Amino acid sequence: MSDYLAGLNPAQRDAVETTEGPVLVLAGAGTGKTRVLTTRFAHLLLTKRAFPNQILTVTFTNKAAREMRERLHRLLGQPVEGLWLGTFHALCARMLRRFAERVGLTSDFSILDTDDQFRLLKQIMEAAHIDTKRWPANALMTQIQRWKDKGYLPGQIPANESSDFANGKAEALYKAYQDRLKSLNAVDFGDLLLLMVNLLKTDAEVLSTYQRMFRYILVDEYQDTNLVQYYWLRLLAQGHKNICCVGDDDQSIYSWRGAEIENILKFERDFPGAKVIRLEANYRSTAPILAAASHLIAHNEGRLGKTLHPGRVDADGEPVEVVAVWDSEEEARMIASRAESLWRAKHKLSEVAILVRAGFQTRAFEERLMVLGIPYRIVGGLRFYERQEIRDALAYLRLLALPAYDLAFERIVNLPKRGVGEGAMRTVHEAARAMNIPLYAATQKLVAEGGFKGKLRETLRGLLESFARWREELALRGPVVALETLLDESGYLAMWKADKSPEAPGRLENLKELVRALADFETLPQFLEHVSLVTENEDQAGDDKLSMMTLHGAKGLEFDTVFLPGWEEGLFPNQRALDEGGNKSLEEERRLAYVGITRAKHRAIISHAARRKSYAGWQDAIPSRFLDELPENMLRHSGSAQTQPYRQPHMSAGFPVLAKRPARASKIPLGARVFHQKFGYGRVIAVEDDRLDIDFETSGEKRVLDRFVERHDT
Ligand code: ATP
Ligand code: MG
Repeated sequence: MSDYLAGLNPAQRDAVETTEGPVLVLAGAGTGKTRVLTTRFAHLLLTKRAFPNQILTVTFTNKAAREMRERLHRLLGQPVEGLWLGTFHALCARMLRRFAERVGLTSDFSILDTDDQFRLLKQIMEAAHIDTKRWPANALMTQIQRWKDKGYLPGQIPANESSDFANGKAEALYKAYQDRLKSLNAVDFGDLLLLMVNLLKTDAEVLSTYQRMFRYILVDEYQDTNLVQYYWLRLLAQGHKNICCVGDDDQSIYSWRGAEIENILKFERDFPGAKVIRLEANYRSTAPILAAASHLIAHNEGRLGKTLHPGRVDADGEPVEVVAVWDSEEEARMIASRAESLWRAKHKLSEVAILVRAGFQTRAFEERLMVLGIPYRIVGGLRFYERQEIRDALAYLRLLALPAYDLAFERIVNLPKRGVGEGAMRTVHEAARAMNIPLYAATQKLVAEGGFKGKLRETLRGLLESFARWREELALRGPVVALETLLDESGYLAMWKADKSPEAPGRLENLKELVRALADFETLPQFLEHVSLVTENEDQAGDDKLSMMTLHGAKGLEFDTVFLPGWEEGLFPNQRALDEGGNKSLEEERRLAYVGITRAKHRAIISHAARRKSYAGWQDAIPSRFLDELPENMLRHSGSAQTQPYRQPHMSAGFPVLAKRPARASKIPLGARVFHQKFGYGRVIAVEDDRLDIDFETSGEKRVLDRFVERHDT
């Protein structure tokens, strides 16, 4: 037997060696599906069934494509050129460029990003006299994307898929949008597949070109394909039917992006006689990790059903740890110090991952890792302080602290849009240069001396006045209140609230997290200094870094040690997901938990906090119901915090609610006389958790955190 086949089990070998005809590998996490696909590729080459460019391989992410390329390289002992290996989008873009004229484009067409897409749609809506306040352009964008995911061009939308957006004008707007794209020689992301599928359907020559070219088709993470992707695969494979898809229904986590698990069932219908292969040995995880994951996912209904047993020789291992911590800070400390110990013990950091449910969670870990000097990377996203909405808010704060900060001024002067255009900014720049003063001061002068007219003048005057007010707020009520006020009054928060794109809720969560982070500092300059240090620290040398990413981004990956923080009701399962999709979403959340646990090879450490800081102070957190769904005999509990277990009665409208209760009452009682470093002596007039309202003798009423004051009445 050839070397590369030797390491496979019989079922895997079967999946590799059944080269002709349709094959569906349906198997649980870590059973070697991706490995089968890579080996199959090598097998096709080495047995001379195909040249590299005759195999079409679809991965779910660019990262996965890179990894597969590397695995192939290792397996074959040399790099392979001319591969058709990549994501659906990347592959379609390449095909479309070759036949661009046939869809009315030229081969150098551009691919719009979501910003451009949005702007274009808005223009089109305005031209059609549609009130974009009532009918937000983003909602139309989502609708169009949905149609594209299902493969509908304008004019092809069936009645039951139509939309009542803008009184039924959505389809006409869709058409206008597509026409406009064409006249710009541009496509959006969804078009890559849509136009390609349509071309394959209508142009026999193109279809036969690609059908003959790709003698074999390989698809990873098949459970997460959407309809239009499925059509594309079906068209390309229709001739020879040499298509091999691997997937796991339990890992379908992208239904919110249009993925259709039914594609698995369709496969057997559209490719009759397809060989279905099941892999049952998991080679990734130890027995306890596997048992925990299997037990959990068994709570889902309507699964296709699979058996999974440990395939590793050293399968017995440590139990899955469940750590109860007091709050998110303790969680960050616990995880960072555990990571540090592993690092000290010469474990590779690249084998350690922290997998979060929501992007905002990374902030606490990032700061802690930074303090300990542990290199990390955020996979598939930006570091917390580099995220757009955080940079915007920081620009506001910087300008608040330092009016001469020109970069900050430029960033926010027209954010949200206030009608301060390039012309106005040119005037400001010229004045600033001429007088050798900062932009902010130049604007002040121009406004005061009639340098601007009409509405623009009022807008800028309003903005300057707001800043003056926010500075006052900062001085009187501290940075947290100032930030909350300015986010609100500037319209910045409203901008994201009105935004209907899928990223918007995450951005709002990040902004809330920024407020929480700021609450740990007494002054704004201290905080800004901290942020600069944290962000400067950036490019830590070397490749050996800990990985942090969302659970969604972790699909297909594996790590020796996996931390799974934040297993609390509301956070995970995620309340927003539950609100939107009910029981179906709960099952998807559970699949996400399954994906998370099964990323671990040796150690899985789940944690949950007894309380979380929120806008309104502290909130008790209830441990995730998923913890109750893990097999007790595979777990080891530890941690400092006493928490109440998840119980069904905590339900409102079918969903659990976070129990609200002051988590830490201040030791300082009402009426106490206190001393504050900055504000001097005063008397406590209200107590809310650990926040005190104090009437200071010289500086008036203020709200402060109790840890910044001392009692002085005894
Ligand atoms: P996922 O569902 O998470 O994508 P998968 O089914 O694609 O998982 P792989 O990533 O291909 O699984 O394999 C999981 C791990 O098991 C890898 O480290 C792989 O090298 C190893 N593995 C796969 N098959 C075998 C085998 N027959 N013997 C030993 N190790 C194997
Ligand atoms: Mg895989």
